[in-house]
Amino acid sequence: KSLSIQEPAVKASQPKQKINVVEKFISSHRKAHVNFVVVGHVDAGKSTLMGRLLYDVGAIDERTIQKYKRDANNMGKGSFAFAWVLDQSKEERERGVTMDVAMNSFESSKVAFTILDAPGHKDFVPNMIAGASEADFAVLVIDSSPNAFEAGFVQSGQTKEHALLVRSLGVQRIIVAVNKVDNVNWSEFRFDEVKEILLAFLSAAGFSESQTTFIPCSGLCGDNIVNRSGRAELSWYKGNTLLEELENLTTVERDIGAPLRMSVTDVFKGNASSAVNITGRINAGNIQVGETVLAIPSNETATIKSITIADQPNDWAVAGDNVQVALSNIDIVHLRAGDILCAISSPVKCAQTFSARVIVFQLRIPLIKGSNILIYRGRTTEAARILRLTALLDKSTGKVTKHKPRHLVSGQSAIVELEVMGSSFPMETFKASKDLGRVVLRQEGITVAAGIVEEILSVKNETM
Ligand code: GDP
Repeated sequence: KSLSIQEPAVKASQPKQKINVVEKFISSHRKAHVNFVVVGHVDAGKSTLMGRLLYDVGAIDERTIQKYKRDANNMGKGSFAFAWVLDQSKEERERGVTMDVAMNSFESSKVAFTILDAPGHKDFVPNMIAGASEADFAVLVIDSSPNAFEAGFVQSGQTKEHALLVRSLGVQRIIVAVNKVDNVNWSEFRFDEVKEILLAFLSAAGFSESQTTFIPCSGLCGDNIVNRSGRAELSWYKGNTLLEELENLTTVERDIGAPLRMSVTDVFKGNASSAVNITGRINAGNIQVGETVLAIPSNETATIKSITIADQPNDWAVAGDNVQVALSNIDIVHLRAGDILCAISSPVKCAQTFSARVIVFQLRIPLIKGSNILIYRGRTTEAARILRLTALLDKSTGKVTKHKPRHLVSGQSAIVELEVMGSSFPMETFKASKDLGRVVLRQEGITVAAGIVEEILSVKNETM
């Protein structure tokens, strides 16, 4: 298939009754919708914490949790009941694509949340990349138990890698759940100790102190997750619960009037009247039933037959929504996970070469000009090559410390130029789109660097 983009054969179809979606959205007073990713060392208590959160906000019914508790007790693993809430949904997700969105969503009285790629897997990092590249903010779960914190953080645990990864992907806001404080007698001293060490690390990694919050909590006992702890031993803590802190973060700005960008997460066959069903997330702009949209990179148009948000049919949807959409007038071969649906008048570019600002992780061998790598964003991946090492940067100020370094080693921050070798990788600069302007670089199954797209230097779909 030719890479150059032709004029789409079909012109935009007009919906029968065109809706002003922006006005609709404003007058609907719909709850803000935010996505977050949960990161931290294995066994820090991520699954338990999220299970508890879902249970305490009423997203899981009593019968289900009682069943988990019975099953867990029977297996002699009583404490795992809450963790199973998420493990279960993981299973559900593997069986049916539509569950992906519904199962990990919950609402408080103020905000609708989606937990991205909820943990529960040991092989967590690849999933987390998909999650982190769509996250509005991150919850970092720390096991404060004696030795556990030291193992997960001070030594070579995953805590640091995860924190660096979300930061390098442009996530600025982080909530640190200092978990399992039941194991340290609810000690303020231990909390302060953990906080001090983490704060130093997080600020060196580029998280500003004002964007970082620490909450002493216990996912297992349920203290300070949704309900404020009533324990005398924890009365020294006057701050927010985890849920209150999550609700505080909803000033995420989304451009619902901008040209459409929707990242496709799954594609599956539709029924007779619609050729294809897709799930995905609207990154910018809005959609409505009857409208024609453009799929990139195939450059094929499709008509929106129906829209479903959290199992409810809707005439329209806006940036921030996770949706299922039935499309007609398109063949399923023209769509795949990782594609971007766009406004016909404003297709997204597919970069041939681009520059990125990245942080380098653990490397076995230094990265040099010519190194082959894979670039990832969400579920999209493509072969690429390092064209140029442009500059080394100071990690906290972002200023150039050296031009044209010979190689990059672990821990450095740099500007690099990359060439996309495979077919097409739709992207935008991070400035234009926080969602579509993030990339993760991997080699042989290891994350070697992650960062944000600074500039698109040349494009494959040139005629756009
Ligand atoms: P994940 O790997 O980070 O998802 O961790 P899990 O949620 O699976 O929990 C790992 C282990 O820590 C399990 O045995 C949990 O029961 C236990 N755990 C989780 N949260 C707490 C907590 O708040 N306090 C205590 N004491 N144990 C916890």
